[in-house]
Amino acid sequence: MMTATEYIDSLRKLKTRVYMFGEKIDNWVDHPIIRPSINCVAVTYALAQNPEYEDLMTVTSSLTGKKINRFTHLHQSAEDLVKKVKMLRLCGRKTASCFQRCVGMDAFNAVYSTTYEVDAVHGTHYQENFKNFLMMVQERDLTVDGAMTDPKGDRSKAPHEQKDPDLFLRVVERRPDGIVVNGAKVHQTGAVNSHWIIFMPTIAMGEADSDYAVSFACPADAEGLYMVYGRQSCDTRKLEDGCIDVGNSKFGGQEALVVLDHVFIPNEYIFLNGEYEFAGMLVERFAGYHRQSYGGCKVGVGDVVIGAAALAAEYNGVEKASHIKDKLIEMTHLNETLYSCGIACSCEGCPTKAGNYQIDLLLANVCKQNVTRFPYEIVRLAEDIAGGLMVTMPSDADFKSDLPVGSMGETIGEICNKYFAAREGVSTEDRQKIMRFLENVCIGAAAVGYRTESLHGAGSPQAQRVMIARQGDIQGKKKLAKAITGIQN
Ligand code: SF4
Ligand code: FE
Repeated sequence: MMTATEYIDSLRKLKTRVYMFGEKIDNWVDHPIIRPSINCVAVTYALAQNPEYEDLMTVTSSLTGKKINRFTHLHQSAEDLVKKVKMLRLCGRKTASCFQRCVGMDAFNAVYSTTYEVDAVHGTHYQENFKNFLMMVQERDLTVDGAMTDPKGDRSKAPHEQKDPDLFLRVVERRPDGIVVNGAKVHQTGAVNSHWIIFMPTIAMGEADSDYAVSFACPADAEGLYMVYGRQSCDTRKLEDGCIDVGNSKFGGQEALVVLDHVFIPNEYIFLNGEYEFAGMLVERFAGYHRQSYGGCKVGVGDVVIGAAALAAEYNGVEKASHIKDKLIEMTHLNETLYSCGIACSCEGCPTKAGNYQIDLLLANVCKQNVTRFPYEIVRLAEDIAGGLMVTMPSDADFKSDLPVGSMGETIGEICNKYFAAREGVSTEDRQKIMRFLENVCIGAAAVGYRTESLHGAGSPQAQRVMIARQGDIQGKKKLAKAITGIQN
C-alpha cells in the first residue's frame, strides 16, 4: 500500500490536464486551491498505515489474498459493508470534508456485480476485464474516480433525442481493438487527483440509446481527456496561506467537469458496450452503494460540526444554558439517525449473483433521503449556537495588525482582540478558529461537501423517492392490511 506521501508524489507523475480560472494549471498538485483536496484523499492512505485503524482501513483482497486498502475492496460480507460505513465516518472525522475516494470503491462493487450479469446473458468478458483492472488498482493502491453524471441537456429527452448528441457520453467509433468515446461527465468528485476514472451510464436506457450504454476505465491523463475545475464558495480564501480565515486550511473536496474528446479505450478496459438493458442496473447499484456511503462520511463531518458548535458555546460561556444543551442533543440525534441508516442498510446487505455484497437498496435510499435534510438542520443549529460573529468577524489580518488606530495608540489587532474576546481563559484566536471553521463548513468552501452535496450527491432527493417507491412494496403492505381486517380480495 502507498503512504500518503507516495500517493501525492504519484500524482506528480501524471499528465492530467487541468484548467481553472480560464488557465491551464501545470503544477496542480501544489496549487493552493487544489492541494487541500489532495491532502484529503491522502488521509485515506495515511490512516491505512496506522495500526490503530488497521481493521477498518485495510482488508484481505478477495481477488489476490493480499492486504489492501479497503477503498479498493469488493465487499465480501455484511460485516464488510458495516466496516465501510465506519471507515467513512472515521475519514469524515479526520478531514471535515469530502475525501473523494469512495466513489471509486462504490463503482468497483457496482461494476463487478453488473458485469457478471451482463456476461451471463451476452457471453461477453467484461467481468474478466474488470477483475484484471481491479487487481492492478489493488496492487498499486490507486485512487479511482467513479464518473456517472452526464450533462443531460434537455431532461425531458432521452440521450439519442438531444439536439447535441454529446450531452451524454457515447461511443462514436467501434474498432477491432477498442472504442472511441466522446462527451463529458459533470461535477466529478475527486477526478483531478485520481489515477484512473471508471465511467458509467447515468440513466436506464432503451435500444435507441445503445451507443450511450457504455462503461470503461480510463487513465485520468489519457490523450483527449481534460478537466475544468469547479469553483467553490470562498475558494480564493485558500490562497491566503495558513490564514485562520480559510477555516479548514488542511482539507477540502473538489469537483470538476471531465471532458472526453474522442478518447480511445482499448478492449481490455471496457465493461459495457451497447448492452443497454444493463445500464439501469449499473446506475441503481452504484447509486445504492453511494447512498450508503453518505451514512458514514457526512456523519463524520457532522461529528466535527457538533464539536465545533459545542466549543463555540463554551467559549461564549453559555455551555450550561438548557437550550444550548438541547440543540446539541438534537444535532447528535439527527447525526446518529443518519449513521443508523448507514449501518442498517449494511447489516441487511446480501450477496449479488457475482458474490460480492450489496446493501439493502430500500434502506440505502432512505439513508440518503435523510441526508438530503438532516445536515441542513445540523448546520442551522450550529449557526444558531455560533452566533452572528460567524459571518461578521473582521479578517485575521486585522487581528494581527499593528497599525495604531486608538487614542491611546492601540493597534487594530489590539482593538479586535479586546472586543472579540471570549470568556476568560480562552484566547480570541481559538474563538476565531472555531468561527471560521463553522463558516467554512456551513456556508464556505466545505459547505459544498456538507450541504449541497448532501442534497444532490449520489442523486438528488427525487431520485431516492423513485427508488423508495419502487422498493417500498405497497402491494405487500396492502395484503397485510387486508389480512388483519379480513378483506377477502
Ligand atoms: Fe466519499 Fe462522501 Fe465525498 Fe461521496 S460525498 S466521495 S461518500 S466523502
Ligand atoms: Fe459525493
